[in-house]
Amino acid sequence: MATGKINVSVDNIFPLIKKFLYSDHEIFLRELISNATDATLKLKHLTSIGEAAGTEYGNPIIEVKVDKEGKKIHIIDQGLGMTEDEVKKYINEVAFSGAEEFLDKYKDSAKDSGIIGHFGLGFYSAFMVAEKVEIITKSFKDEPAVHWSCDGSPNFELEPSDKTDRGTEIILHIADDSTEFLEKSRISALLTKYNKFMPIPIKFGTKTETLPKPEGAKEEDKAPTKEVDNIINNPTPAWTKQPADLETKDYQEFYRELYPMQFEEPLFNIHLNVDYPFNLTGILYFPRLTNDLNVQKDRIQLYQNQVYVTDNVEGIVPEFLMMLRGVVDSPDIPLNVSRSYLQADGAVKKISSYITRKVADKLSSLFKNNREDFEAKWNDIKIVIEYGMLSEDKFFEKADKFALYPTVDGKFFTFEELQEKLKANQTDKDDKLVILYASDKEAQHSYIEAAKAKGYEVLLLDSPIISHLMQKLETSKENISFARVDADHIDNLIKKDEAQISKLSDEEKDSLKAELESVIANKSYTIQLEAMDSSASPFIITEPEFMRRMKE
Ligand code: ADP
Ligand code: MG
Repeated sequence: MATGKINVSVDNIFPLIKKFLYSDHEIFLRELISNATDATLKLKHLTSIGEAAGTEYGNPIIEVKVDKEGKKIHIIDQGLGMTEDEVKKYINEVAFSGAEEFLDKYKDSAKDSGIIGHFGLGFYSAFMVAEKVEIITKSFKDEPAVHWSCDGSPNFELEPSDKTDRGTEIILHIADDSTEFLEKSRISALLTKYNKFMPIPIKFGTKTETLPKPEGAKEEDKAPTKEVDNIINNPTPAWTKQPADLETKDYQEFYRELYPMQFEEPLFNIHLNVDYPFNLTGILYFPRLTNDLNVQKDRIQLYQNQVYVTDNVEGIVPEFLMMLRGVVDSPDIPLNVSRSYLQADGAVKKISSYITRKVADKLSSLFKNNREDFEAKWNDIKIVIEYGMLSEDKFFEKADKFALYPTVDGKFFTFEELQEKLKANQTDKDDKLVILYASDKEAQHSYIEAAKAKGYEVLLLDSPIISHLMQKLETSKENISFARVDADHIDNLIKKDEAQISKLSDEEKDSLKAELESVIANKSYTIQLEAMDSSASPFIITEPEFMRRMKE
């Protein structure tokens, strides 16, 4: 038997990269800035542990320059740089391992395309937009600078360079099919999307800053100005800080930084911060959930070490929390795998249930610490909570203690309080607690009045998923049922007050009933004359609860 090794030709890598990554070619910039950031952070670490004697870390920045005439983009860092040997090792050989990695991922993408485009192709993603790439680099070590260049074929050139300052400059010679990246506005938008919160300051051009007028300046004198670096990122976003160091206004400011087009204040936030058994930081915001269209647009953003990855957090954030906003940052989320794998991944499941628990705990403490405020916010947060109670049993258990049931009169009960309150006079003949509710205060006005006249408490439950939650409560709690105020069996409720029984004689009732029924012509409705004496309505028409639910 013969065995052998299939030879994967490196000549094929560039056409493959270009072809299969085309839809997401913009990520080249994120990858190169990530490398520049890594190089800077590595140097920072080396200097801090004393392994870079004689090197001053200083205040390094990363600079991105667009040279439209020369058709070039430059990415310049002041990081640790590379020696000639390191270029050979990291850059040249990565072509090989990069090819392997690429083919691995390519296999995956057949099932779920779009993955490769998003994640981790590193240095060679530069060839998606460039026909030639140069690296000019000088290591922090005392070794000569080198100049590497490659035109997209597997052949590279390596020669000495006269660069004197530490760090690396990557020069991309933009290919004719990618000239959109020579537009400053395009690059600026990309920097804002992917690099807005990266940890090393990123300079893109300069901007004019207005200085205060000197003393004694006249009214008509123009304020002096000066050109300063245009730094596009905030290297220390709120989520990277300790909750104890932040105030409400810091969270609000960060919300505005994340969503510059959102003018409404978030209701409250949840700071995520865990380092065991996985690493995760982030801030989630409960927005006021109006019907505005931005709900879809301003979604939770996923970062890895402050690099933007995606705003598709499906599988990572539980579905019922997708209506929230904010950021989640975790280096532990495997990104270069398919979404279906993600959902089965143990670490990701743990992350998802951690987030659920944190949200439940926060809501619980808001409820306990300031119930009045919690009640005031209920209308805006109920959808998320009700949805969570329906979809996650663990969340249901916790939320059952703080989920509120408002009455038509603006009182709020927890379920336990409600049971306590109703047990005295809202049970049916089987001793089952009947919870009356209205879904529309205006339309069901007379029914509400009739029920109230009988001394019943009527809830106002109007959210779109409430009927599902009622069903869940009916099955998970003992001996309770919900009935809308216009349902037929209200009348079966206990302790009928004598004063409220119709004074009409039986014959009078029968003829009135027959007359009304002939007018209504809907067999599923019932005419009820008991409410005759409650001043609000002369009689009421009811529909069986089950009929109504069927229609929903
Ligand atoms: P990764 O970043 O995942 O290691 P890349 O293909 O992006 O893979 O980069 C390969 C290697 O090249 C890096 O690990 C690093 O050693 C080196 N490198 C790339 N860019 C730079 C840079 N700007 N400064 C120093 N080294 C770099
Ligand atoms: Mg990289």
